[in-house]
Amino acid sequence: MNVILLGPPGAGKGTQAKRLEEKHRLIQLSTGDMLRAAVASGSDLGKKAKEIMDAGNLVPDDLMIAMISDRIDQPDCANGFILDGFPRTTPQAEALDRMLEEKGLKLHSVIEMKVQDEILVDRITGRYTCASCGAGYHERFQQPKVEGVCDVCGGTEFKRRSDDNAETVRSRLAAYHAQTAPILPYYAEKGVLKAIDGMTEIDRVTEQIEDALGAA
Ligand code: ADP
Ligand code: ADP
Ligand code: ZN
Repeated sequence: MNVILLGPPGAGKGTQAKRLEEKHRLIQLSTGDMLRAAVASGSDLGKKAKEIMDAGNLVPDDLMIAMISDRIDQPDCANGFILDGFPRTTPQAEALDRMLEEKGLKLHSVIEMKVQDEILVDRITGRYTCASCGAGYHERFQQPKVEGVCDVCGGTEFKRRSDDNAETVRSRLAAYHAQTAPILPYYAEKGVLKAIDGMTEIDRVTEQIEDALGAA
């Protein structure tokens, strides 16, 4: 099963993708995580992407399309994948279609996670992750069970993304509305789009996604 989680920054794509990974044995393909790894490694791609990401703009389509095509070819994707953060523009959506056809793969569903902008700002500015295992948390909405200790791995170091600040968030939301939201009608026409309410609590969002996948 190949699924796209589509929604603005902070909608909960990463949080839900991790749950789908475990439950359905899928692989989460987060283009944001891949780019951050490229930046950390200092590769050519990372050097090109860093400033663009810090400004809250989108990395050029050709780089993103090549990156995701290579990743889908890896053997661990054979049972299916969850795209988190891709496609983000109409050219990316069209390239993905061609890519899937060439690789003989099918798109099961596109899940649109709907969340209001004001809520997204709170979600993003309070977001942090475990420095060891990457588990996601939030200052108010998703705290570890024991303060300062990761639920998943017991790690005690946490980190924040440099682009998760109030100014950059505004640019990222503007990029979502201008460049990403216009691909929703494209998937609606194909009959694969399902919208869910991303403003309910995390477990309720998971239930809605499971229902949407089951009903496909
Ligand atoms: P995205 O991958 O779409 O950018 P994340 O999954 O990283 O979003 O979620 C953004 C922040 O909001 C994280 O700190 C996460 O803990 C929190 N969060 C995710 N889903 C919910 C929810 N349904 N209600 C409240 N907070 C949430
Ligand atoms: P979020 O879900 O919080 O918006 P991501 O981790 O998906 O953040 O992306 C972080 C940044 O990486 C984006 O603001 C953008 O600069 C870049 N990026 C990620 N995916 C793409 C993509 N498909 N196309 C262009 N830029 C991307
Ligand atoms: Zn951890």
